[in-house]
Amino acid sequence: MTLIDAVYLLIFFHGMIMRRDFIHKIKSYLSFLKESDFIFLEKSTETSETGRKQESNSGDLRQIADEIACCAKCRLSQGRTQTVPGDGNPEANLVFVGEAPGYYEDRQGVPFVGAAGKLLDKLLSRIGMDRSQVFICNVIKCRPPDNRDPFPDEIEACEPYLLRQLEVLKPHVICALGRHAAQTLLKTDKGINALRGKFHLYHDIPLLPTLHPAAVLRSPGQLRDVEHDFDLISGKLKELGG
Ligand code: SF4
Repeated sequence: MTLIDAVYLLIFFHGMIMRRDFIHKIKSYLSFLKESDFIFLEKSTETSETGRKQESNSGDLRQIADEIACCAKCRLSQGRTQTVPGDGNPEANLVFVGEAPGYYEDRQGVPFVGAAGKLLDKLLSRIGMDRSQVFICNVIKCRPPDNRDPFPDEIEACEPYLLRQLEVLKPHVICALGRHAAQTLLKTDKGINALRGKFHLYHDIPLLPTLHPAAVLRSPGQLRDVEHDFDLISGKLKELGG
């Protein structure tokens, strides 16, 4: 081997070492991107899409709530302290619908507060959920005087707000809480015991009627029926993917 051959050989090996070093650096850089920026960008795109949907639903629900707040389409506007449009997760797969706000709801502007609300929380925790995952509202958004049943013309005036809320939320399951809510939504005069325990359809959304938590507080023996209904809801949510 001549001196020149040795120099070439040296340059060749140096090149190989440099190339390996270069490839190693590229690999490290790619792995750095994968572990930080690259993944972050993928996640942030996903998160921003979810965020955008959440923001859009929140905005649409707020718009409906604003309209409800100044609604005077029926006589119930005259006696309310405030409207109770509904409350909860703007992307909820499960929506609870009661009939109308009561005394405390009218005072606070939030549905299902007080002892009945606490029982609802317990039933939710039974199926591994909490209020932050669901949306709760009523068919009627203003309290009827002395908690009387709403009149048909009041339901007719108010129900479009519920339909618009459901259009925004697109829930997988609706749970009608109590006889009045179930009868109003399903346009039937059947009793709650005939309706509960099975799914019906409300505008193509599976709807399961169950007893109102306040009724269960008055008749604790019916708690098992309601727990059974919540188990059915949980099963249906799993079946429908959430
Ligand atoms: S009950 Fe409904 S329709 Fe009647 S005033 Fe209140 S928001 Fe309007």
